[in-house]
Amino acid sequence: MTIFSKIIAGDIPCYKVAEDDKFFAFLDINPLAKGHTLVVPKQEVDYIFDLSDADLAAMHVFAKHVALAIGKAFPCKKVGEAVLGLEVPHAHIHLVPMQSEKDLLFSNPKLKLTDEEFKEVAEAIRKAL
Ligand code: 5GP
Repeated sequence: MTIFSKIIAGDIPCYKVAEDDKFFAFLDINPLAKGHTLVVPKQEVDYIFDLSDADLAAMHVFAKHVALAIGKAFPCKKVGEAVLGLEVPHAHIHLVPMQSEKDLLFSNPKLKLTDEEFKEVAEAIRKAL
C-alpha cells in the first residue's frame, strides 16, 4: 500500500480538500505556495500515463474543479499543474497557485505552515468548491 493509499484510507492524516468515488485531493505537506494541492486516483497506479484514457481524462476534470477552487481561495495569475512522481510511486497531479513561473520550481524552499494554517488553507479551498 502506498503512503497516498494510506492517506485515502484514513490511516495517515491529511488536510483533505475534495473526494469522489475515484479521486482524492489533499494539501501537499511541503507546499511551494499556500494552496498547493495533490490530486490522486484511488486506484493505486505509479505512473500517471499508465491510467486508462478515461481515468486520465476524469482525473483532469476532477483536478480542474479543485484548481478553480484554489484560484478563488488564493488569488493568483494561474494555478499551475505539474506531474513528477519521482518521490511517491502513486500517480498524482500537483496544483500550485502561481504569480510567476518561478513559483512552480520544485527546487524552491518549501513553506512551513502550522497545523492551524494547513487547516485554514484546506477549509478555504473546500468553501470555494
Ligand atoms: P513527487 O512524487 O511528485 O516527486 O513528490 C511527492 C510529493 O508528495 C511531494 O511534494 C511531497 O511533499 C508530498 N508528500 C510526500 N509524502 C506526503 C505525505 O505523507 N502527506 C502529504 N500531504 N504530502 C506528502
